[in-house]
Amino acid sequence: MTHRFQAAVVGMGPAGMAAAIELARAGVKIALIDQAPLPGGQVYRQPPGEFSMPPGLAPSRHNIGHALRRELAQAGSSLTFLNGAVVWGAFSPGTLSVHQTGRNYEVSYEKLVICEGAQERIIPCPGWTLPGVISLGGLQKMITTQGIAPRGRVLLAGSGPLLIGTAAAVVGAGASLVGVYEAVSFTSLMSLGLGMMAWPRLLPESFSYMSELIFKGVKVHFNWGLKTLSGDDRVREATLVRLDGSGAPIPGSERIVPVDVVGIGSGLQPHVRLARLIGCRTEYDPDRRYFAPVTDTWGQSSQTGVYIAGDGGGVGGADWSEVQGRISGLHASWSLNRMGCDQLGSFSSRWLRSKRRLQAYVNALHRVFTPKDGHYSSITPETVICRCEAVRAGDLMARMKMGEQDLTALKPSRLAMGPCQGRGCEGIATEMLRLHDVPRENLKALHLRPPIIPMPLSAFSKHTERVSGSRS
Ligand SMILES: Cc1cc2nc3c(=O)[nH]c(=O)nc-3n(C[C@H](O)[C@H](O)[C@H](O)COP(=O)(O)OP(=O)(O)OC[C@H]3O[C@@H](n4cnc5c(N)ncnc54)[C@H](O)[C@@H]3O)c2cc1C
Repeated sequence: MTHRFQAAVVGMGPAGMAAAIELARAGVKIALIDQAPLPGGQVYRQPPGEFSMPPGLAPSRHNIGHALRRELAQAGSSLTFLNGAVVWGAFSPGTLSVHQTGRNYEVSYEKLVICEGAQERIIPCPGWTLPGVISLGGLQKMITTQGIAPRGRVLLAGSGPLLIGTAAAVVGAGASLVGVYEAVSFTSLMSLGLGMMAWPRLLPESFSYMSELIFKGVKVHFNWGLKTLSGDDRVREATLVRLDGSGAPIPGSERIVPVDVVGIGSGLQPHVRLARLIGCRTEYDPDRRYFAPVTDTWGQSSQTGVYIAGDGGGVGGADWSEVQGRISGLHASWSLNRMGCDQLGSFSSRWLRSKRRLQAYVNALHRVFTPKDGHYSSITPETVICRCEAVRAGDLMARMKMGEQDLTALKPSRLAMGPCQGRGCEGIATEMLRLHDVPRENLKALHLRPPIIPMPLSAFSKHTERVSGSRS
């Protein structure tokens, strides 16, 4: 029994849902695949059906997500949902290896839209691996989708919209927030307001988070960062330090705060796992300080028939991701002869206009929040860089001094050799190489091998069957 889909969309976040809506409306037979049980992705993640959503996400954002999910549900019968399904490999052109509830199978496609989303960027400091230290997004999701509030004194440090959103969620959940420390200056943050004017839909969301903080009397400290975290069996103290214009600590300005829970995070970087495995070309972007796939206006990658949309193609937020997903979905439908050039032109013009307007906001976001050299140059030798293999910065520094010039050459330290294959440490080590004057052409992303997502061994103990949408 062999089945074949015309298109596969990986990821049910705003990008994947939007791409699937456009493909299904055009009558394309598609598989929409996500390891999560329900559509939503990071930002619109839903609790199981029998539970209601606790407060946390701004009402305007909640409503946008609700409307998108409703649109998806009504998109058409050519759509097959493969939820709770992990895409872990791609062994031949046009096929994906999927593991779903104890079964391995392959999904075949003519067009693929990859919407893998983003992951948090952590700039490590000594003690960041202690129990009680959690990423901002992880903390926010615990509160907003599971209703779990942190107990004791909570401190948040880092940078970016997620810092303020998480702070609002923490106080909204009634937890004790002892400090919010943002690395950028207040003036920089205000300059973001101008970028937002190009996309006013973001204003109610921002006001909602800010007013929650003002109403609860939370003070945000600007130009501050974490120097160290310390404790015994868990985090007990945070040492914070004022930062200068380059992001470097100002000696003598330290402040010690007793803590029980610390949320950290310095923005997002694209997930480029499946795209890399399939061979899509990536490039290091020095202005955003991450590796991103190379794509054209429609999201087409360097691999024929493979599109990349949403944060996985370059971080821009939920609305940006939705718009990118619509554009890629429409183009993929056109390339499958499901619409003519005129229809592609008229259906996509609205989304291409939105993309141009959003670009101003996305550029401002990166200008304000992308970490500066000082954030990385202040990483001390004892700091753990690769959490899976406990590789410290000092080991990498010593290898660079001996002349190692790229990520692969640093691998004998066991950097990126753990189950996550460098998801967290690759970006930090790249910045360390850059500060060591390694030429840009040497800054290349590591090769990934399947499984691209850590999987239990039991997943491979059964034979693989081929599954797709239509019998032949
Ligand atoms: C932790 C976190 C918290 C965030 N909180 C907010 C917020 O509060 N407000 C806000 O506006 N923005 C928030 N963002 C940003 C926002 O989530 C993104 O901008 C937006 O969701 C990106 O949409 P996307 O469709 O590109 O990816 P996502 O929404 O991230 O969706 C990607 C989906 O792909 C699936 N996936 C990835 N790889 C595979 C695979 N190999 N197999 C199967 N499934 C796979 C994932 O399970 C996920 O559901 C957050 C981001 C993160 C990382």
